Amino acid sequence: MSDDFHEIYAIKYGHHSRRSPANFIDGDPHDVLQPLDFFVWAIVGPSGAIILDTGFDEAMGRKRQRETVKPVREGLAALGIAADGVKNVIVSHLHYDHCGNYELFPAARYHLQDVEMAYATGRCMCHHALRVPFEADDVVAMVRKVFAGRVTFHDGEEEIVPGVTVHRIGGHSKGLQSVRVKTRIGHVVLAADASHLYAHIDGGRVFPLVYNVHEVVEGYETLKKLASAPRHVVPGHDPAVLDRYPAAKPGLEGWIARLDAEPKAV
Ligand SMILES: [Zn+2]
Ligand SMILES: [Zn+2]
Repeated sequence: MSDDFHEIYAIKYGHHSRRSPANFIDGDPHDVLQPLDFFVWAIVGPSGAIILDTGFDEAMGRKRQRETVKPVREGLAALGIAADGVKNVIVSHLHYDHCGNYELFPAARYHLQDVEMAYATGRCMCHHALRVPFEADDVVAMVRKVFAGRVTFHDGEEEIVPGVTVHRIGGHSKGLQSVRVKTRIGHVVLAADASHLYAHIDGGRVFPLVYNVHEVVEGYETLKKLASAPRHVVPGHDPAVLDRYPAAKPGLEGWIARLDAEPKAV
């Protein structure tokens, strides 16, 4: 096996029941139940486990009226990953559901795009419409990590370890980054919020929380190019991920899926 092949796991930690018009910038004429799941991802390879995004904790779930299905720590433990031993955490963007639990990884270096930190600490946050998905405490926690020497900033495309690269997509949040991972089945792309649901990337549709619509739709093309095949782009919030991919191991169905596997055809 090539030494830069990685395993990838999607770990569900939260859920939000909602109807489809809430998921698209121009609503949805079908008005059906279309919930969001909340995930963190573990990328496991020769450099150990890299975690993409840190989720929210139960207190934040209550504040934001999102259900915590299983705390992030439990999901990692089910895979045999000790959070306090994790060395690298990639943060896709600084929205509350992607960068909480900030005490969970005391030994980790955090990887963030320059533009995302500038966005989350600058004049755009003067505007309610733009700061809604951010929590001041989350942003402050990241600033404290900068001062503690624990953040590596990235500008566009950069390698985290051989076989794992970050790519600035922007759009949904100004400095949103997705992650491309080399696996035994080719390059898999973890979109995070560059595509919340399959319906977004497949239909060219846009989630209502957005900084720049043009970058969102351009981003879909970039994600497809980065992946070995369009089916290897994994959306960030789609419950269907847990149906399309096999469980990480028996007993973890509906909770943790293995993404370096062929998804079921739909
Ligand atoms: Zn987001
Ligand atoms: Zn999100």
